[in-house]
Amino acid sequence: MTDPNANPSLPALQAEIARLNKVVQVLMDRVEHSGDLGNSYFDQVQATVMLEDLVRRRTQELEAALAENRAINRALSEAEQKFHCVLDQSLVGISMTIDQRFHYANPKFAEILGYSVEEILKLGPADITPAEDLPQVLDVIRRALNGEFQQLTFTTRAVRKDGRIINVEMSGKAPLDIGGRPALIAVWADITERLGAEREIEALQTRLRDQALHDALTGLYNRLFLAENLDRTIALAARHGYPVSAVIADLDFFKSVNDRYGHPGGDAALKHLADLMRQHARSSDIICRYGGEEFLLLMPDTPVEVARERAEYLRQCLAEQRVAWKSTPIALTASFGVASYPEDAQSGGELIEAADSALYSSKANGRNRVTRFGQSWEPAPI
Ligand code: GH3
Ligand code: MG
Ligand code: MG
Repeated sequence: MTDPNANPSLPALQAEIARLNKVVQVLMDRVEHSGDLGNSYFDQVQATVMLEDLVRRRTQELEAALAENRAINRALSEAEQKFHCVLDQSLVGISMTIDQRFHYANPKFAEILGYSVEEILKLGPADITPAEDLPQVLDVIRRALNGEFQQLTFTTRAVRKDGRIINVEMSGKAPLDIGGRPALIAVWADITERLGAEREIEALQTRLRDQALHDALTGLYNRLFLAENLDRTIALAARHGYPVSAVIADLDFFKSVNDRYGHPGGDAALKHLADLMRQHARSSDIICRYGGEEFLLLMPDTPVEVARERAEYLRQCLAEQRVAWKSTPIALTASFGVASYPEDAQSGGELIEAADSALYSSKANGRNRVTRFGQSWEPAPI
């Protein structure tokens, strides 16, 4: 019987049949000539029958081996076709790299990089990597060949045939031994669009968050930002042992500004005070549009007296300047209240309340003035 493990190649089987034919021919000749040597006719017939039987059996064995060989080859060819069909239709790129060259590439891999399969097979990883990324990519290949990872996924950039740089995600496994050489099989996906979309969403989120925390008219922080940061500012001050001062400014008789100059004129006045506060703020200060025409200046690590001086300076500037508005510049004044943590309040909420109560005193005592919480107002200069 044919050994199923032995899988002689077709040419080898055909060579053996030819050799057997030759052997049979030689034996037949010998049998024919053996009559000359005095062998009996019976002996000749017996030898012929034995030889024919031998040839028949051996031929049957060889034909069976040939049939088996054909079946194996057919199965192999079908398996290969199926395998190629799957790889050709794959939605991800697949490559096999041997000796720094792409030894195999499926159509998707070539498509990702804008080449034909034939073209890409003349290239290697170094040819599709931007120069600045090359050291990192070569290092990954070296470590993969050293068997440093069983499975690796990383994102990198690749240069297409048209020069465009794309973002790719590459997954690879430990190298395979193909014909005694290490082969790196990798799966590739073009993630440029995905990354672009992710970045757009991030930028949108940042913008939305930014808008949610800022006042659209003046660009200052809004009340929501203050709510999120007031307690943290106080907690930080408590930990480091420094004061936090708060100044609240409220435009005087603002309703009449609106009445006289219209809402857009009122808006210009609000922007004017916002700009003034911004111009004279330190980077650590938090300036908020606290209400319609109320502004809050939160000053970490600032003693109350310094805050009061700043409020007085802002008051004077505002009273002296005019808001440019059409042909009639707008004259403005504001009242101010000043308070400080931990002197006047024990929490952020109390600090705002204290500054608000000082502002109320400024209003009650004639407006266009600065009042420090718990102290009587100082007369405004005429
Ligand atoms: P007081 O001196 O007591 O502060 O008087 P006031 O008129 O400034 O105060 P009041 O609180 O009575 O009026 C505030 C006005 O601010 C009413 C409102 O129409 C106006 N206001 C609020 N937000 C805006 C805004 O965004 N733009 C404009 N133009 N006006 C606004
Ligand atoms: Mg007002
Ligand atoms: Mg007000």
